[in-house]
Amino acid sequence: MSTAPSPRVIALDGPSGSGKSTVARGVARALGWRYVDTGATYRAATLAVLRSGADLRDADAVAAIVRRAVIELSVDPDAAGISLDGEDVSTQIRGPEVTGAVSAVSAVPDVRRQLVELQRALIGPGAVVEGRDIGTVVAPDAPVKIFLDATPDVRASRRAGDRDAGVPRAGAAGDVLEAVAADLARRDRLDSSRAASPLQSAVDAVHLDSSALDADQVIERVLDLAREVGLAPAS
Ligand code: C5P
Repeated sequence: MSTAPSPRVIALDGPSGSGKSTVARGVARALGWRYVDTGATYRAATLAVLRSGADLRDADAVAAIVRRAVIELSVDPDAAGISLDGEDVSTQIRGPEVTGAVSAVSAVPDVRRQLVELQRALIGPGAVVEGRDIGTVVAPDAPVKIFLDATPDVRASRRAGDRDAGVPRAGAAGDVLEAVAADLARRDRLDSSRAASPLQSAVDAVHLDSSALDADQVIERVLDLAREVGLAPAS
């Protein structure tokens, strides 16, 4: 009796600012695989809801708007991007309005069902998939699962674009960092406490703390794990 081959999927979960996007893109590039940014799909869905003017608390209305939205995600790690109803919204989805509303939209179970279906269809012959529920829901049979984390200070510094990661500065930059840290903490709290597939590590995920590592070191560590299970050629 033959056993089904393992899917060629690397699941990368973790909170905002843990370095997931840079690492996922780097690993996908190294393997010649697709890069699936599931957060971008929740952000595009949120933009559709905001544009419609619907009440974010009305789960049925939110789910209906997302059902009508045409969301297309590029899976090329060198040309990440996303469109909504044919319009490139790669920049808009990173704006404060979407960032402020995305946790509410992504907590709607029917929205999650729709987007998980879209995300699974994008995996194709091999993909590095990043998000919050990849190892638990989107690709529970992924042979490599990583839960990437970093200290709150480092994550806020990265999100604020501060090059001195982990070293909050005084004055105006310090204020910016504080605001970013507060926003991350708010989003992490909402993402971790929602009923529908909250941010959580899969029991079989490898935990990596990227606080003291640069992106290349984390990418190398993930590639090592992929080699250990035969997903990547030996170096
Ligand atoms: O990764 P990113 O910060 O762009 O994700 C934006 C938001 O999308 C998260 O704060 C979370 O609410 C939601 N998300 C999710 N499940 C995923 C990916 C993202 O709920 N797999």
